Amino acid sequence: MTASSGTTLRSLGELVDAGLLDRRDAPAIAPVVTRYAVAITPTMASLIDGGDPADPIARQFVPTPAELDARPEERPDPIGDEAHSPVPGIVHRYPNRVLLKVLHVCPVYCRFCFRREVVGPGEGAMLPPVVVDNALDYVASHPEVWEVILTGGDPFMLSPRRMAGIMERLATIDHVKIVRLHTRVPAVDPDRVGGDLIAALKASGKTVYVALHANHPRELGPAARAACARLIDAGIAMVSQTVLLRGVNDDAETLGALMRGFVEARVKPYYLHHGDLAPGTGHFRVSLAEGQALVAALRGRLSGLCQPTYVIDLPGGHGKATAARSGVVALSDSGAEIEDYKGGRHIYPPP
Ligand SMILES: *Cc1c(COP(=O)(O)O)cnc(C)c1O
Ligand code: SF4
Repeated sequence: MTASSGTTLRSLGELVDAGLLDRRDAPAIAPVVTRYAVAITPTMASLIDGGDPADPIARQFVPTPAELDARPEERPDPIGDEAHSPVPGIVHRYPNRVLLKVLHVCPVYCRFCFRREVVGPGEGAMLPPVVVDNALDYVASHPEVWEVILTGGDPFMLSPRRMAGIMERLATIDHVKIVRLHTRVPAVDPDRVGGDLIAALKASGKTVYVALHANHPRELGPAARAACARLIDAGIAMVSQTVLLRGVNDDAETLGALMRGFVEARVKPYYLHHGDLAPGTGHFRVSLAEGQALVAALRGRLSGLCQPTYVIDLPGGHGKATAARSGVVALSDSGAEIEDYKGGRHIYPPP
């Protein structure tokens, strides 16, 4: 019983009809859907094994009552973006790079999303052009900004025409050298990565990086890999980002297969994110100790190309910090003690 249809599933009724939800469970989930947007693309729906109650794709996108279980440490703005927003649409936390949030719409709505309180369709989902213009004025008037990172929502949901408009404006800002876009589209809706969109991305004339968000190796099927190839063959560099999620990728086998899948698709693993403290997402979080053990397990068994950096976004707007264990376990004037990938300890002499 595999769900697949031509349109994105958005309501409880559609999820039931597609066989992704038991009709008897719908009443308990109704308040979740009222609170947080739902969308499952045909590509993602087709990957769900309806016979597996713990399916890792379903777990990412099908709403559950657990999302109403907010914990005291969770917060609506888990990584403190608001405190660093000088003008609407811009988050300027690090001196040399800014986030440009152009829309709140996504192709899918992930149940663990750290921006779940702000993403969704409807009122205010697209930033009005005048607000985007003001945000770009901010970039133009800050010569220290070397990189502009389009995020949202998912910037690949912009029409090619609006994307081209933003890229053409960025083309006029000399101090911006890098344009980066964070998206889930190449994996969850690969047909959207067409010639018009790619031409629009190239209109900035800058070095363009696309960071693909994917969390399970099944997401990198033939169509997704082909979408990545279209971007890369057009001269766009790609990196990955993954959220460490309980029941989705919290075992070395799955995480390793995902990282190999990225590398095979010419997407360089970049970040493995520790889960953020977004409301109602506690059932997805693993402990830092588990995360560190997983990352250490990847060290020995995978090519260096497959190693992501494990990072945690500190609550309160303090930015990202590395979360992996260091190989250097002790450091003193008499030398260092360093752990190899099998756990053996070795002394390295002082200079
Ligand atoms: C994560 C983040 C970035 C990008 O950080 P990198 O380490 O360069 O990937 C930039 N700005 C903000 C506000 C962020 O949260
Ligand atoms: S695509 Fe990104 S922003 Fe959109 S719901 Fe998923 S995690 Fe959140």
